[in-house]
Amino acid sequence: MEGKYCIITYGCQMNESDSERLAGQLEELGYHSVAEPDGADVIIINTCAIRETAEQKVYGKIGELKHLKQEKPDVLIGITGCMAQKNKKALFERAPHLDFVLGPYNIHHLKELVRAGSKRSAHVLKTEMRGANIEDFTDLKAARKSDVFAWVPIMQGCNKFCSYCIVPYVRGREWSRPLRSIVREVEELAAAGYKEITLLGQNVNAYGLDFGDGTNFADVLRAVEEVPGILRMRYMTSHPRDMTREMIDTIAACSKVVTQMHLPVQHGSDAVLQGMNRGYTIAHYRNLADYIRKQIPAVVLTTDLIVGFPGETEEMHRETLALLQDIRYDMAYTFIFSPRSGTPAARMTDKVSAEDASRRLQELMQVQNAISLERNRDMVGQVHEVIVEGPTKNKPENWFGRTSGNKMIIFPYADGMRIGDVLGVRADAAQTWLLRGTPVEEKRS
Ligand code: SF4
Repeated sequence: MEGKYCIITYGCQMNESDSERLAGQLEELGYHSVAEPDGADVIIINTCAIRETAEQKVYGKIGELKHLKQEKPDVLIGITGCMAQKNKKALFERAPHLDFVLGPYNIHHLKELVRAGSKRSAHVLKTEMRGANIEDFTDLKAARKSDVFAWVPIMQGCNKFCSYCIVPYVRGREWSRPLRSIVREVEELAAAGYKEITLLGQNVNAYGLDFGDGTNFADVLRAVEEVPGILRMRYMTSHPRDMTREMIDTIAACSKVVTQMHLPVQHGSDAVLQGMNRGYTIAHYRNLADYIRKQIPAVVLTTDLIVGFPGETEEMHRETLALLQDIRYDMAYTFIFSPRSGTPAARMTDKVSAEDASRRLQELMQVQNAISLERNRDMVGQVHEVIVEGPTKNKPENWFGRTSGNKMIIFPYADGMRIGDVLGVRADAAQTWLLRGTPVEEKRS
C-alpha cells in the first residue's frame, strides 16, 4: 500500500506515545507522514478529554475536516484517544463524516481498518476497555518523532478517582505492562542509540499492583538500570499515595534515574485534598518530601497545583502558599479548577468565584516564581550535563538542552554540535523558567 497520513495529537505524553504507535502501523503499511491533513489519505485526531475546552477544540478540528471528505470520499478520518473513549458513537452522530473511533485500548486495530479502506470502515467503533492483553497495543512498533528521546509506556489507567479527574473513566483501571515487554523495548531503544527514555503512566507508582505478586515500580527502575547504553531514565507521573520509601531508595541508588521528580500535591489544605479524594494528608506529603530530600539531596522537585477548587477558603489557599514556602519546589504547574462533566467535583456546589480563583492563581505564581528563580540562581557557576535537543524556536543560533533535573539551558551553537550530544554546560545566568550558559565540556556522544 502507498499513501500519506496525518496524525494531529492533543493532550499528554501518553497521547504522544500512542500517536507514535498509530504512526508505526501506518508506516508498516507503506504510508508516510505529512504535516497537514490536506492531501492525506488517512487523518487521525488523537484526542484529549481532560477539560471541557479541550473537547471544544477537537470538535472544531473535526468540523474543519468535513470538506476534505466531500472532496475526496476515500480519505479515512478517525478519532482516537480519551474523547473517543468518552463519547464513543456520539462522535458519529455529531460528525457523520468520521470513519472510525478507536479507544486508547484499541489502537492496534488501525492496520486492519486501513487495509479494509473507507467503504468497509464506515462508522467503525472500537472502545472495549479490556482486550486480550496490554501488549496488543504497548508492543506496537512506534514511529518515533526523535531518535534520542523516547516514550516508554509502562502502564495504563488509574484507580485513584480524584474527584476532578476524567482519566479513570476514559483510561480505565490500572493495568501494568509485563516487565519483560518494557525491558525488551528499552533494549531495542538502547541498541538504536537512544539516550533518554521516559517511563509513562497516569500513575507510575502503582505499577505492578494489579499483578498482586509484589512487583512494583522499583522493579522497573532496577531492570531498566541494567540495560547498557541508556543514559537517562525519566518517569511520569507519580502519586504521593503510592510513592514508597523503597521506590525513593531505588531512585537514589540508580545512576540513570534523573534528579527531577514530579510529585503532584495539588493543594496545601487537608480539607481540599479530601474534597479532591487525593487520599493523603499534607503531613504525609511533607514526610515524603523530607525523606526524598534526605535520600536524593540533588532532587529537583516539581509539582501540580489547583486553585479555586469548590469549598476552598482564603485560609485554605494560604495553606498552599505556606506549603510552597516550606517545600520550595523548583517548578510548579498551576491551574484554576475547571469543572469536568462526568466527575464528582463538577457536581459540587460551593464554587469559588472566578475573580477569587484568578487572584489566588496570581498569588501562587508570584510566590512560586520567586522560589523557581532563586533555585535557578543556585545553579549559576556550576557545570551541568545536558543532552542537546536542538535550536531554540526564536533564535536558531541558540541551541538548548535539559539537565537531569529537566531544567532548560540555552547556549550558543558551536560548529559540529548535534542533537543528542551530551555536553557539560556552565550556567552563566538564571531566569524563572530557564538558564543561559556556555558549553565547557564535550561529555560523550
Ligand atoms: S491520580 Fe488522580 S489526577 Fe491523576 S490520573 Fe488518576 S484520577 Fe486523575
